[in-house]
Amino acid sequence: MAAVELGALAGFVFDLDGCVWNGNVLNPGAGETLAALDRAGRRLAFVSNNSRATGADLRERLHALGVTVAQHALSPLEIIGEVIIERWSRSRVLVMGAREMEDAIAGAGHAIVDFKDWRAATVVAVGNDFDLTYERLTVAALAAAATGRLVTPNVDPRLPVEGGEFLPGCGVGKPEPPLFRMALERLELPPSRVAMVGDSLGADILGARGVGMPTVLYAPQGSTAAEPDVVVRSFAELARLAGVGPAENSR
Ligand SMILES: [Mg+2]
Repeated sequence: MAAVELGALAGFVFDLDGCVWNGNVLNPGAGETLAALDRAGRRLAFVSNNSRATGADLRERLHALGVTVAQHALSPLEIIGEVIIERWSRSRVLVMGAREMEDAIAGAGHAIVDFKDWRAATVVAVGNDFDLTYERLTVAALAAAATGRLVTPNVDPRLPVEGGEFLPGCGVGKPEPPLFRMALERLELPPSRVAMVGDSLGADILGARGVGMPTVLYAPQGSTAAEPDVVVRSFAELARLAGVGPAENSR
């Protein structure tokens, strides 16, 4: 099955929810396998589509669970400001989303535009907006139509604008390329040398394959899916295939 030799790779990017952890509990063997990979000199990064947690929040959570090898953790919030700079340079951004997203965008050096001044916006960012009203939706739709520049951390990258139209997809999180590319940049490795490990065929496997990474589907129940390069049922199996197992109890 494994056309990809995991033992020959230089790095691994791990999905968090449903892969490294479920809720506040590490999946069996995850801590040991991650520590073993680190000891063997593999570079590690962690990605999540959580749009209310920063990379620092995720790293803190990993450390609290004993995964002290976690240095590079990325969420769409971590990169949305950088993606806006890459696409359109520093901008005046109308944010229809949570306070955390507004802070992340402002933190990257963009100006946040008040809803009453929406005509000044050059970019519209859309995330989970817990203060959503019809008025805010209308203003965001008008600004998106006027600027033609829309960015969102969410998996569904479409925003309805007037006339029943949709603006084209421009998401930041998985399965879109930016989160994977930023993780590779942090690891300073090319995609062919880093495997993406995750539990979602659509978000992790197809997304990572799209940027040229080898893929490992974490499927405790097993899977017959043809898309991943490798399927593992446990972290112990991953460690063995990566040449760092059997995972010793290192703690
Ligand atoms: Mg997942």
